[in-house]
Amino acid sequence: MNKLHHLPGQLGIEYKTISEMVTIYCKAHHHADSIPCAECQSFLVYANEKLDRCPYGQIKPTCNKCPIHCYKSNRREQAKKIMRYAGPRMLLWHPILALKHIIGEQRSIPSRIPHTASNRHIRHKHKKK
Ligand SMILES: [Zn+2]
Repeated sequence: MNKLHHLPGQLGIEYKTISEMVTIYCKAHHHADSIPCAECQSFLVYANEKLDRCPYGQIKPTCNKCPIHCYKSNRREQAKKIMRYAGPRMLLWHPILALKHIIGEQRSIPSRIPHTASNRHIRHKHKKK
């Protein structure tokens, strides 16, 4: 898998959670030789890119509570299918990640969207120095 950005902190936890959910979903639905299959891999690259660009950065609300809908409609549908299937199963297979997500859902949504908090922004700022 290539083109993935390194996501530290909270963003990394979110990415890990999504990739575990994709694995659960892919295993049950796609029966490909490699898990995740090509289609699911491309979804993960997309999710990784969106997390990298999320303007909330480290203070992001969980995606289901977020006021910004940054996924394109077809990707959003794909995400919904994956979450619906894998969400309840996460408690069984990855209880710590599931718990972190549930705790994350209790966090309040920041009242303003920051301008310089995205991982992408911080990454580019470091590069310039
Ligand atoms: Zn798949």
